[in-house]
Amino acid sequence: MITTNLDRMDEKIKAFSKFGALEGGGITRLSLSEPALEARAEFRRRVLALGMTLESDDIGNIYATYPGTEEGLPRIVMGSHMDSVRNGGNYDGIYGVLSSLEVAETVITEGIKLRHPITVMVWTNEEGARFEPAMMSSGIVMNKWTKESMLAVAETGGTVTFGEALEASGWVGDEANRLNDRDYCAYFEPHIEQGPVLEEEGLDIGVVEGVVGMVNYDIILEGVSSHAGTTPQSYRKDALRAASKIILDLWDKLGAIAGDLVFTTGEITCRPNIHTVVPNYVKFSLDARHQDMDVIAKVVDVIKNLPDEVYGCRLSYEEHWGRNTIQFDGRLIGYVEGAVKDLGYSYRHMYSGAGHDAQYVSELLPAAMIFIPSKDGLSHTVVEYSSPEQTWHGANVLLNALIEADRNF
Ligand SMILES: [Zn+2]
Repeated sequence: MITTNLDRMDEKIKAFSKFGALEGGGITRLSLSEPALEARAEFRRRVLALGMTLESDDIGNIYATYPGTEEGLPRIVMGSHMDSVRNGGNYDGIYGVLSSLEVAETVITEGIKLRHPITVMVWTNEEGARFEPAMMSSGIVMNKWTKESMLAVAETGGTVTFGEALEASGWVGDEANRLNDRDYCAYFEPHIEQGPVLEEEGLDIGVVEGVVGMVNYDIILEGVSSHAGTTPQSYRKDALRAASKIILDLWDKLGAIAGDLVFTTGEITCRPNIHTVVPNYVKFSLDARHQDMDVIAKVVDVIKNLPDEVYGCRLSYEEHWGRNTIQFDGRLIGYVEGAVKDLGYSYRHMYSGAGHDAQYVSELLPAAMIFIPSKDGLSHTVVEYSSPEQTWHGANVLLNALIEADRNF
């Protein structure tokens, strides 16, 4: 089997860890910020040194391409994002870019003949940490929202708009360069798992089948606010007490639907939120995710069958938003699995619980993802870690899956 270079892969991770480095580890490399532009400049330097051609599109997505041996074939593209959340780690996103770069470097320096051109891609603003929403530019490419509305988005906690930051970055290119289904034929995105499963099970690789479907509800309890000292307990219509009961009931009921269903109440509003007043209004979020949409339908059933009244408080709910499960391309999943087996790595099939640019790309091109383990399952934190061997394994899988895709597409 052909493999990439372990030391070179590790050097890339360490080199890019400098851009936005925090004292004591980790990075803050918000989209189009100074450190993000330094990382882009380093990426440009490296791909040009490899003899790749560099293009960017009108939203600053970067495409570095090396030609194939057959004229006129579309490109196979691989990559991810280089921006991070505030106090993020050295692997989320950037691992996908650097493993793709390591694969391209291997192909070029080893003289591996591929029929298709290969492209290493960098998405602008995947995290949405500086400019909301997440997956902004893949969402523009896939018409999830308009470019105009996104250019007007101001940074969180500041005044600079995405459009202004983009203009100042020097990375605005041609709209015709956007990822499309004429010039490109397949998309791979390597990524860290961002969860504990691979490490817990002692596995090398996650063969990602898709991205889980989800629903997001707000549940509202309305009672009566009254004086904390003068209202006997039996007279109260306490919305927070009612919400507490419903949250705990939901844990029991949703937990019984499927062992691998994940659900979260992460946001709560309590009014009037004064320590001497019985709350009259509580709204809490419920996020539930599973790959089987029938399981999600059961979650919705549980919500719809919640009682209208709890401890004298009126209960109502609103669906906030949701998405169906995204299935990646069967052929590409097969190439990834074949590569894993040929390399002798241990693996499992899994779904991503988090969103990735690949989920939007999958509506345009055959797409697939490769996961490597995350230490302690942690991500979006400075302690995010995957070992040099783990990062190398993922790159090797990508290289061999790419070769197989090149043979068959
Ligand atoms: Zn990511």
